[in-house]
This record gives sequence, structure tokens and C-alpha cells, in this order.
Amino acid sequence: MTRTALLIEDNEQNRYLATFLLEQHGYRVVAAAHGRAALSALRDFIPDVILLDIQLPGMDGYEVARLLRELVTLRATPIIAVTSYAMLGDREKALAAGCNGYIEKPIDPDTFIREVEQVLVAAVESSR
Ligand code: MN
Repeated sequence: MTRTALLIEDNEQNRYLATFLLEQHGYRVVAAAHGRAALSALRDFIPDVILLDIQLPGMDGYEVARLLRELVTLRATPIIAVTSYAMLGDREKALAAGCNGYIEKPIDPDTFIREVEQVLVAAVESSR
């Protein structure tokens, strides 16, 4: 079964790379360049996973995560923060905002999908 990822990322190169890697591993990718575009895309589908850049124009990723978590249809959807903020506190902030896990930028093509899958496995286990 094809899984769908919603990718919320304003940087075109990062969007291209993440889309490429996800599609290579069988995901269908819907990309949004900012939170508002993501919220309107979510009127039409429910993704299996959401990849969320933290540094976004307009609403930042923490704010977007909080809004996504308010949507009943997304209560169980894993949200993975993807950010270049390497500060320890940012991980906690992302988790507090409703993210299930955290991937650090720059995206490493060799480990990105494994990191995504690790968060997905952990999210499924913690929801049991
Ligand atoms: Mn960004």
C-alpha cells in the first residue's frame, strides 16, 4: 500500500531532496511551502506521516504542529520535525508542540528514510 507523506518545507532544495528520497521509497508526497498551504491541502486528504520544517515563513513549525494536533483527523498521524536548530531545547519544544520525533538538517540522503521509519515505528508503539 502506498503511504502518503505531507512535506511542509519552504526551502526548494530541501523539498526536492526529501521528496526524491521519500518517492524512491514508495511514498506519495504532497508538498507545501508553508503552514497555511499545508492546512488547505489537508482539507483533501489525510497523510500517513507529516514532515515539518520548523523554520517556516509566517507560522513557525511549532505553531503549525499545534494547529495540526487540533485537527481530529490528524490525532494519530505522526509528525516529524525537520530542523537545522541543533539546540537541545528545540527537540523538547518540537515534542511539546505535538511532534513525535525530530530529524536534524542537513538531510543526510543515506539515513533520512531510516530516521523517518524509526519515528514511525516508535509512534505506532507508543500509541498501543
Ligand atoms: Mn525552512
